[in-house]
Amino acid sequence: MGIIQLQNIKKSFDENVVLKDINLSVGKSEVVVIMGPSGSGKSTLLRCITFLEEPDKGVIRLGENEVTAGNQPNKQRKATIRELRQNTGFVFQQFNLFPHRTALENVMEGPIVIKKMDRDQAKKKAIALLTKVGLADRMDHYPAQLSGGQQQRVAIARALSMEPMVMLYDEPTSALDPELVREVLLVMKDLAKEGMTMVVVTHEMGFAKDVADRVIFMDDGVIVEEGSSQEIFNNPKEERTKQFLQDVG
Ligand code: ADP
Ligand code: MG
Repeated sequence: MGIIQLQNIKKSFDENVVLKDINLSVGKSEVVVIMGPSGSGKSTLLRCITFLEEPDKGVIRLGENEVTAGNQPNKQRKATIRELRQNTGFVFQQFNLFPHRTALENVMEGPIVIKKMDRDQAKKKAIALLTKVGLADRMDHYPAQLSGGQQQRVAIARALSMEPMVMLYDEPTSALDPELVREVLLVMKDLAKEGMTMVVVTHEMGFAKDVADRVIFMDDGVIVEEGSSQEIFNNPKEERTKQFLQDVG
């Protein structure tokens, strides 16, 4: 059974049906890359996993925490969603760092505020994580003093500081100048090698070929096809996948 399990997820915004009936299971240490045209529902799907968007229907399970969409909110449900979120590291296209905190302070924040870790311990941990993402010499810089690639690496370190069960990335390199993409992908690749479970929305085919255990092609709110990167890139079965690969390739 998967560490992430999505069953029959449906989501509409008014009359716009954005997720039609999504079933997805992600195994422990698996790296799943999601591709698809703009507007196909990729971000909404990631956001539904952590209830940043509430699905209209379906069941979401992350580890032990299972939530059914559309249930009346109650205390227990809220607590489960909170736990589910704490077990998920989310990295967005826009890095969303606190602008008035240094890189180090950004990474210390979650463990101190949410995990009630003591400051010295949180600092030690943050230093280790920033070193891991190659920013040992930038810890005291503010976001504005860092390049986009450096800011995104801080964002990854910040997500890791909560020791998530899974990492979700929504087009983590799309806002970056081309020369900064590689350094972020390398950090993600290292994490994958260490066994981190990851769901990555990206159009970086090189990354998908190198790192993905499975590539999912989404269009118009459905999973059109999925397979190894080899299968999807070299031998797509569906017309929509072929068209998309022609357009991005
Ligand atoms: P993708 O990430 O694949 O580009 P999205 O999940 O962002 O796609 O969007 C899918 C569809 O849902 C789009 O038609 C978009 O306009 C719509 N949508 C996304 N978020 C909202 C929202 N908060 N309110 C209304 N419509 C939304
Ligand atoms: Mg998106």
